[in-house]
Amino acid sequence: MNPRAPLLAERMSRLGTETAFEVLAHARELESRGRTVVHLEIGEPDFDTPANIVEAAIGALRGGKTHYGPSSGLEETRAAIAEDFSRRRGVAVDSLQVVVLAGGKPAIFFGLIALVQRGDEVIYPNPGFPIYESMIEFSEARAVPIALREDNGFRMDVDELERLITPRTKVVIINSPHNPTGSVMTGEEIRRVAEITSRRGIWLFSDEIYGRMVYEGEHVTPLCHSDPERTIVLDGFSKTYAMTGWRLGYSISSKEMAVRIARLQTNCNSCPATFSQIAAVEALKGSQESVDHMVREFDRRRRLVVEGLNRLPGVTCVMPRGAFYAFANVQRAITGRFATVRDLQRALLDEAGVATLAGTAFGANGEGYLRLSYANSADNLTEALRRMDRFLKT
Ligand code: PLP
Repeated sequence: MNPRAPLLAERMSRLGTETAFEVLAHARELESRGRTVVHLEIGEPDFDTPANIVEAAIGALRGGKTHYGPSSGLEETRAAIAEDFSRRRGVAVDSLQVVVLAGGKPAIFFGLIALVQRGDEVIYPNPGFPIYESMIEFSEARAVPIALREDNGFRMDVDELERLITPRTKVVIINSPHNPTGSVMTGEEIRRVAEITSRRGIWLFSDEIYGRMVYEGEHVTPLCHSDPERTIVLDGFSKTYAMTGWRLGYSISSKEMAVRIARLQTNCNSCPATFSQIAAVEALKGSQESVDHMVREFDRRRRLVVEGLNRLPGVTCVMPRGAFYAFANVQRAITGRFATVRDLQRALLDEAGVATLAGTAFGANGEGYLRLSYANSADNLTEALRRMDRFLKT
């Protein structure tokens, strides 16, 4: 054994990652060497944070909101979140159920660390946001994937979910609207999942970070139907208000669970940034025109991208209903030319200057698919499609 090797804890070998950041780094490196790259890999709105929110943060900074705050978040921010969530989702939430976090991601980290351990099973969507699987395994629980299939519009098959449940199932994770496929579960499917988990005493973790980005159908939170004592909702400001760099999200859970999540935050980052939280109140209470505009624009680009993808040789793509991702079936484009979709992803970036993500960055069931984020200008999307067309035809 190398005596200089770092003596890491065994759990570190079970920690996964988000490939998007690695592809972004590679793309930036190509750009630094003079190449042009169209970025369809990273999941963030290309819009700037609305000016009224930025002004609120500047005012907060000037007003001295630069100190530690409570670990569960500022009371005014928790109250604004509770009021907004209750009104939009039609379910009464108390501010004591809200914990303001440094992004939506900590809700996954803290929620799973608090709930699961060796011997537990957690059912999660595959393909799905890679942090679920990573954190389940880090927590030493068994990760039980549920396949989201194209022939079911990439929605979770609730009958299959029922079959996967065992006496060891501790948590079921759902994510609608869904990253990476853009699928949106129907209200009836959400209600059934809520009913099944409540009846069987299983925790339901509902990631609703794309809840405002629905173009067809409607977003329903399971909290309307599930056991509120065993439900955790994740939402946040990153996507809805184009605030990815502000690091601001939240969890909604029982009051008791909220205390535990806040305790984890005390141990980790003490509290989210105070001035970001003041800006969050403005985000929720101020004009929503920027959000509405952004969502309309994503809807327009969604059609542009999906129609364009369906014209490419060897590519088909179902119309996503929410979020800002297209999940294209590229199986025929891969066959005979590449071993895996990962190789296609690499070649598209290195040879055609289009940064995308292999579906396998979201789990084994993503083989044969590419995820493209359409949070980019119509011009850039058109250019990406043109480059892909040329690449696939040569
Ligand atoms: N959940 C899903 C499904 C996501 O796609 C993301 C970000 O890409 C997050 C959670 C994390 O959001 P945040 O950047 O607020 O931590």
